[in-house]
Amino acid sequence: MSVFRFAPSPNGYLHLGHAYSALLNADMARVRGGRLLLRIEDIDETRCRPEYEMAIYEDLRWLGLSWEEPVLRQSQNLAAYQAALDALKAQEVLYPAFESRAEIARFVAECEPWPRDPDGAPLYPGMSRQLSAAKRQERMASGVPFVWRLDIAKAIDRAGAVNWQESGAGPAGETGAISASPAQWGDVILGRRETPASYHLSVVVDDAAQNVTNVVRGADLFHATGLHRLLQMLLGLPEPAYHHHRLILDAHGRKLSKSSQATGLRELRGQGKSPADIHRMTGL
Ligand code: GLU
Repeated sequence: MSVFRFAPSPNGYLHLGHAYSALLNADMARVRGGRLLLRIEDIDETRCRPEYEMAIYEDLRWLGLSWEEPVLRQSQNLAAYQAALDALKAQEVLYPAFESRAEIARFVAECEPWPRDPDGAPLYPGMSRQLSAAKRQERMASGVPFVWRLDIAKAIDRAGAVNWQESGAGPAGETGAISASPAQWGDVILGRRETPASYHLSVVVDDAAQNVTNVVRGADLFHATGLHRLLQMLLGLPEPAYHHHRLILDAHGRKLSKSSQATGLRELRGQGKSPADIHRMTGL
């Protein structure tokens, strides 16, 4: 049976773009006689808030959506991400990295132009990758903060060619059999000392644990899919089918943000819009 999921992060109120994604998932699940799951992606403690989570349930119910209970909340699933992190450590494709964000930014500023990932963030320069095993142990034992990074070159070497099947389209219209380039992300962070998870790791762990067969989400996550497939291959997880949908843009052609009042579902509801109006406004 087909299993779809809508996986918002409770770090702001939902807007038209979320409504489109949730409604599209629900429509596709209905057409295929499949299941629809809701997953709360709340591992970022600094940005996620309970009131946003409550608002997600309320706004989605108002839209007329229903989903299976219990809802998986990632903040309560850290042991699963820790296990995946440990499996990757055992494959020696992770290493601890000790530089602060400011240190990396300073280094990159001195070396501009510096390569960037598809989201525009500078690639990690790799200082900690070279450390000897003894030095790594010594630094970790000293109590300095560190993150776990994926040695992307080693990981790609292990996994081989990475690809996926796309039934929607990427930002440049890419569709069909996609040959991924996860190297464009560099040595991404997969876990932190205090939280054994990152978006990229938790999303693949949960999609597999929840038997998700169809990942339907915004085109802004198209390039991340290469990284997700790489992690699935390393962890021996099944491959879902992917469908990246168009993004709903504001009047200036920009991606909607969670703080933009004009397209917030609560604001639209306050203005007297009905769920049918929202359906229409998303172009569904
Ligand atoms: N939690 C992510 C977001 O709100 C979506 C993750 C996904 O659909 O894979 O952008």
